[in-house]
Amino acid sequence: MAKNTTKEYDKGLNGTIFDIKHQRTFCLIKPDGVMRGLIGEIIGRIEKSGLKIVAAKMLVPDEELIKAHYPTSDEKWIARLGTKAKSGLEGLPLTATEVYGTDNDSELGQNVVSALIQYMQSGPVFAMVVEGLQAIEMVRKLAGHTLPFKAEMGTIRGDFSVDNPVVANVEGRSIHNLFHASENQGEAEHEIKLWFGGEVICDYSLASDDIMYCKHY
Ligand code: UDP
Ligand code: MG
Repeated sequence: MAKNTTKEYDKGLNGTIFDIKHQRTFCLIKPDGVMRGLIGEIIGRIEKSGLKIVAAKMLVPDEELIKAHYPTSDEKWIARLGTKAKSGLEGLPLTATEVYGTDNDSELGQNVVSALIQYMQSGPVFAMVVEGLQAIEMVRKLAGHTLPFKAEMGTIRGDFSVDNPVVANVEGRSIHNLFHASENQGEAEHEIKLWFGGEVICDYSLASDDIMYCKHY
């Protein structure tokens, strides 16, 4: 927790307001983002939103780390990947069985997981812990929709990627969507511990904090 930014009124509601203002999330620039030279652009968007980077590092992750990072044994998450992959078919004259060889969400999701594990090891990633007011939701908003062709303009994925799981699958690859961000508190805690456990997470104030979301007058 950031101690030096604590204000009297932050301590209200049993510290809940403080926790909301200093929420931490995990995010990562994927290999395609690093190899396209988009680290600065993506970090710039995080910083300009008023959120604060409190830890960062670059590495090429191994299979073990990627398997631990994603909920690869969660059947619901795997089936959800299958559903998302199928949503790439919208508006196209193709069926799931034609494209993916199956209509079954779990089976299809499992294929997505295999491709995803390869993609995430294909080069360096830039991992970060980001802190700020409702940071988990804010960074998800900055990221945009999982599928690049559905991601809104103004988001990282919408502005800098165009891909569809249908096209990706034909090439036996994951979609290339540049950026990962924790979806909820549970994922954020798990991912911060996995990638930065035992490492220093910095505690400092941003000059903009007082203007952005404190009563400074
Ligand atoms: N993914 C994919 N094809 C799909 C759905 C997902 O390659 O049809 C990959 C993509 O890289 C995505 C990751 O799997 O970011 C994890 O999927 P999730 O549903 O958790 O999306 P996210 O949280 O990244 O938006
Ligand atoms: Mg996810």
